[in-house]
Amino acid sequence: MPSKSNSAATDAISVEQKIRRELNLSKEVITIRRNAPAAVLYEDALHERKTVIASSGALIAYSGEKTGRSPKDKRIVEEETSKDNVWWGPVNKPCSERTWEINRERAADYLRTRDHLYIVDAFAGWDPKYRIKVRVVCARAYHALFMTNMLIRPSKEELANFGEPDFTVWNAGQFPANMHTQDMSSKSTIEINFKAMEMVILGTEYAGEMKKGIFTVMFYLMPVHHNVLTLHSSANQGIKNGDVTLFFGLSGTGKTTLSADPHRLLIGDDEHCWSDQGVFNIEGGCYAKCINLSAEKEPEIFDAIRFGSVLENVAYDEKSHEVDYDDSTITENTRCAYPIEYIPSAKIPCLADSHPKNIILLTCDASGVLPPVAKLSPEQVMYHFISGYTSKMAGTEQGVTEPEPTFSSCFGQPFLALHPIRYAKMLAAKMSEHKANAYLINTGWTGSSYVSGGKRCPLKYTRAILDAIHDGSLAQANYESLPIFNLEVPTAVNGVPHELLNPAKNWAQGEAKYNGAVSNLASLFVENFKIYQDKATPDVLAAGPIL
Ligand code: ATP
Ligand code: MN
Repeated sequence: MPSKSNSAATDAISVEQKIRRELNLSKEVITIRRNAPAAVLYEDALHERKTVIASSGALIAYSGEKTGRSPKDKRIVEEETSKDNVWWGPVNKPCSERTWEINRERAADYLRTRDHLYIVDAFAGWDPKYRIKVRVVCARAYHALFMTNMLIRPSKEELANFGEPDFTVWNAGQFPANMHTQDMSSKSTIEINFKAMEMVILGTEYAGEMKKGIFTVMFYLMPVHHNVLTLHSSANQGIKNGDVTLFFGLSGTGKTTLSADPHRLLIGDDEHCWSDQGVFNIEGGCYAKCINLSAEKEPEIFDAIRFGSVLENVAYDEKSHEVDYDDSTITENTRCAYPIEYIPSAKIPCLADSHPKNIILLTCDASGVLPPVAKLSPEQVMYHFISGYTSKMAGTEQGVTEPEPTFSSCFGQPFLALHPIRYAKMLAAKMSEHKANAYLINTGWTGSSYVSGGKRCPLKYTRAILDAIHDGSLAQANYESLPIFNLEVPTAVNGVPHELLNPAKNWAQGEAKYNGAVSNLASLFVENFKIYQDKATPDVLAAGPIL
């Protein structure tokens, strides 16, 4: 017989009543669970389609048709409090307050039809000075468990005294938007309203939309209200010296993989803020890519996939429930969300009261042109940060099946609420104040392109490069210059084959072909940078490739 516990029950009831009132729910048909533990969410989730428990104990759930983010369906409500700050354009498409009202009501209508609703009350931002209180209201237990893992879980006391949330996510992703509603271009919409401080999701069950929606909110609130810089980066810290490293990079470039380093403390794998005091993680969990995951290559992540973790869109053996991480039948973008403390070297609370010593710009270059590592001047950092080059690999976004070169400013364009130059200027100021070293690391192809059958830089070599950055030896190394991009590449790195370091000298198809490939990539950079030409300083402009 389950025992009854009454502590914090009063507050839970009042929150429940408030949601009932807001949604106009009839009491008989719906149960509301607030901050339910994993065991309870598991039980409910197992009634959802196809959901099972993996042999490792993780919950295997499916997000249905959408297995990646839908950036084209993201909208910001055009209203007077934020409209002069928001960076309007293809990333932040406006929608009217009228459309917002309709879609919010549509989400509420859907939620009213459910037997169970879930509330997750939790924090975004580990620094108590800047954290925001987030409420997620959703109808799938898997979504509730996902956000329980990804947000910062409140203590019992914090939950009892939670009060009003600063931001609320209404996730009715199982239900489509109405295509005839003004501003709608598909049946999915992810809408953020900075005046109401709410977000509505319709027509996509991909759980990552919730986490990245809150990230966008932080990209707005932190710089506008606190002069704090938001970063699409992972972060870790040296155990002995406390030195902080930031890893910027677009999806699939290695933020999660490389920040999970047994020799360093993990601050976070994806979303951070850089304040006057140091660096803090926004999230309470990690969201790792699982494709080709192996215990040998990535033991920390592999072992984090256990009871309480949510595995999304993976294939498994029907008899043993063992996951086949090499199976990409459903999507390349298989994922696992787990609480950050599942990584043994996690630093709780996830913040550092010192400023970054090393800044790493990660790229996954499918053209094979960029070197595995290059040292960057402050101007080069700005140039590459504003450019945000990588090759989009199949997976995280709907519809991408072949690698394609892409430029995403600040290495996080889809999440930028404000103009990229605003963030770039803040980064430049912080880097010069705190004198951080900076490197460009290509975790993608090097020495030959993806299409010519080249190979991705083996993970062990990228790890050896990071070790050389952290033990200080790379800063002392001898460098030579790569043509056109004018990147300084080391002539030797401990543990890395010498011939890997300089693609110009070791291009599989010969130096002439390399020069052709490098020119091709450089022209893409130059073409892309034209949109920033009038806003960038001459020394930053000069730090790009010169054709
Ligand atoms: P997202 O923003 O979508 O979370 P991410 O930057 O965190 O993306 P990871 O989850 O770390 O990306 O994915 C990197 C993938 O590339 C992993 O599957 C990893 O195993 C693989 N990989 C292969 N070679 C390397 C390398 N040299 N360095 C880093 N990752 C590599
Ligand atoms: Mn990641």
